[in-house]
Amino acid sequence: MSLPADGWKNKKGTGSRSCNCGSWKDHWINNSKKAWPSTCSISGCNNAATLGAHVINSKVSGEKIVPACASCNKLDSEFSLKGGVTLVSANKQETCEK
Ligand SMILES: [Zn+2]
Ligand SMILES: [Zn+2]
Repeated sequence: MSLPADGWKNKKGTGSRSCNCGSWKDHWINNSKKAWPSTCSISGCNNAATLGAHVINSKVSGEKIVPACASCNKLDSEFSLKGGVTLVSANKQETCEK
């Protein structure tokens, strides 16, 4: 799966969404099968990753979850992701509720 590093934005209005995993952080862990990273996935940010952020990209279909910090989860502008970041589908039918 090759995804662009640039051109990502936060999907607005997702704060009240939930899934079977309990949190979007757990959703990322359950579906990536990876350990939660120590730092935020957004390029240039070295804060601790504390939540799973819903992100979208005009070149990518569907919404994705990436590990992020609380301040990056509030970004209004486009941002880039660090290299090697794992994105998990936010589509519950493809992941935890299939
Ligand atoms: Zn889930
Ligand atoms: Zn951050």
